[in-house]
Amino acid sequence: MRGKVGRLWAVLMACLIGGAFALVAYAGHARDARRMAMADAMTGSHMLRVSDLMIRRELTTAVALTPCRLSDGAVSTCYAFQTTSMPSHAAGPWCPRSAYEPGGYFVDDVRHLRNPAGRDEEKQVTVAWLREIDQRLGWSIVNPDGSVNITNDTELAMVADQEVGRWGYGEAASYGIVNHCVQAQPIPRTLTILIPSVPRAAAEPVDIVAAGLPGTGIALDGVLYFPPEPVGRITTYHNVAPLDATGGHTGFAYDYHYHRAREVPGVPNLRTRVYGFMFDGYPIYGATEPDGSAVRDLDRCQGHVTARLGYHYHASNAFPYLTTCLNGAVATGMSRVG
Ligand SMILES: [Zn+2]
Ligand SMILES: [Zn+2]
Repeated sequence: MRGKVGRLWAVLMACLIGGAFALVAYAGHARDARRMAMADAMTGSHMLRVSDLMIRRELTTAVALTPCRLSDGAVSTCYAFQTTSMPSHAAGPWCPRSAYEPGGYFVDDVRHLRNPAGRDEEKQVTVAWLREIDQRLGWSIVNPDGSVNITNDTELAMVADQEVGRWGYGEAASYGIVNHCVQAQPIPRTLTILIPSVPRAAAEPVDIVAAGLPGTGIALDGVLYFPPEPVGRITTYHNVAPLDATGGHTGFAYDYHYHRAREVPGVPNLRTRVYGFMFDGYPIYGATEPDGSAVRDLDRCQGHVTARLGYHYHASNAFPYLTTCLNGAVATGMSRVG
């Protein structure tokens, strides 16, 4: 009897160990297949040249090829250029000063703003909507006389301190900025952008903050793309930070940037339907494929491989709207601007 149990136990263990090896082998194979597909994706007919698609009049230098080092240590060649990240279209509006002014847009979400509709919705920021938030959550962005608390340019720096320093609400109520609509006028920046000319898959998705990138990518009009706006961090202080109709606003470094990939003058490129390039060099498209067909099977960075386009990213019409991580190696040496 003991012998039988022993044999059964041995068979069971053999199955478990064999299964574990099979799982590891499968995961390794899947990872290799993905990396090979991504590598293959950027050869031959898939190759798009950054220098052909960026709108040169929006950049402060021409796009030139230069030697660069990538985040995986490889020496490569990058497209290099400078941009101010200022839009060629009008920026704003963001915060309404009165009931007679329309504002920008903010995500009225279930998690942080307890949207009673039970789903995340992008809402226009009007005095009426701010009052609705007040009734729902007890905030006081709108004063009893109908005026709205709106940050000035100095107060934006205070909002940056409390958000980056992860202060609590009480601390910010004493020393910071609470119950405000956050906005500031953007200032032209001098940003040197480096984009790998031959994108290559990274072993792991790139940590955007650790890599010191100025954003996640760049639209063809020279404006930075950022990851989705941190609604939870902003609303911790009973603040809202609206985007304009093109999905842009001013960051803590007074840089204008997009949290959405929207159609703006010159974007997307009419021939290719490309909106911009993420900083690993892979292109980003809108919420559909260039031929209008539905997008399928996106990975967690909102990218995938198709036969026609190779590896590429997509924007979406719901959260997270834009790529949250990058699957390819990025160039080192770009500076982050908040
Ligand atoms: Zn932002
Ligand atoms: Zn696609």
